[in-house]
Amino acid sequence: MSPQPKLRILFTRDEIETTVRKLAAEIRKDYQGRRPILIGILKGSFMFMADLIRLLDFPLEVEFIRLSSYGGGRESSGEIKVVQGLRSEVRGRDVLVIEDIVDTGLTTVFLLDYLRKKKPASLKLCALTDKPSRRQVPVTIDYLGFTLPNKFVVGYGLDWDENFRNLPDICILEE
Ligand code: 5GP
Ligand code: MG
Repeated sequence: MSPQPKLRILFTRDEIETTVRKLAAEIRKDYQGRRPILIGILKGSFMFMADLIRLLDFPLEVEFIRLSSYGGGRESSGEIKVVQGLRSEVRGRDVLVIEDIVDTGLTTVFLLDYLRKKKPASLKLCALTDKPSRRQVPVTIDYLGFTLPNKFVVGYGLDWDENFRNLPDICILEE
């Protein structure tokens, strides 16, 4: 058996709630009266999406997209495929992508390019967390929650080998 990994809280559930409220306030201001499609990236964004949309008081649609990245483990390989696509028509719509984390940026850039080809009226990115120290390709994050140190984090939807998504706090997985 591998040793039990150690977890250290980085952002508490209260800090997350405050940050999600702040993001929702910014998004409310920009999307009032526009009925956007919010597209969450599975699986990591499900909890963030659920909390965020309850704070949005305008009509919207929710979609999820599932991407596969070969390599597994803690790194994305940059070789990305859509394994579960969209049901809604994106052409001409206001699209807001909801991400749990932007790390190297490879996944995000792949997805934004994929969506841009479908000719949305607008395309923006909301990310709960950002690890800028690991960036390989430039990404503009329109709505950002937390900036992370160069550590692997779990909880609030984020996993380590499918574990720890259910933690209500965002924790650093200690080596
Ligand atoms: P990127 O393509 O930006 O390198 O990373 C995309 C994916 O890598 C994220 O959606 C996430 O699944 C995974 N990832 C990157 N950094 C972390 C991290 O610190 N914690 C967890 N749980 N996943 C991460
Ligand atoms: Mg993962």
